[in-house]
Amino acid sequence: MKTKILISACLCGKNTKYNGKNNEIKEISKLKEVFDFVLICPEVMGGLSIPRNPSEIQKDKIISNQGKDVTKEYVLGAKRALQIACKNKIKFALLKESSPSCGSSLVYDGTFSNKKISGEGITTKRLREQGVMVFNENQIDELLDMVKL
Ligand code: SF4
Repeated sequence: MKTKILISACLCGKNTKYNGKNNEIKEISKLKEVFDFVLICPEVMGGLSIPRNPSEIQKDKIISNQGKDVTKEYVLGAKRALQIACKNKIKFALLKESSPSCGSSLVYDGTFSNKKISGEGITTKRLREQGVMVFNENQIDELLDMVKL
């Protein structure tokens, strides 16, 4: 039986990004040989639309580039992602780097100036708190090595 993995829908080619596009990665078919995908898009699962205004983390809130506080939607999306992980007994996630939901080592700095800083998205944080190992699209070799152990 293949290992289940939580994966950002946009990495699989689904047009769930804020701008209605995706972040499809070329390794999808290779990953499908190893994993059963469980797709998530926490922002859409939290009630936000496609397209939507881009948002960034500002201290303990998530604010859109129009100044709207969308923390509630992001928190709900993270909660739903965690529920899916728990229900499926998922131990691994592959999530899009730098997103305020899915980022795992970098996020935008909150000034909408395209500057990234160390940090993690809201969903990544919730998943890690429950022991899910979160990787990003630049760490696919590490992820595959970890699963082979
Ligand atoms: Fe992709 Fe995550 Fe953003 Fe959804 S919330 S579009 S899955 S990075």
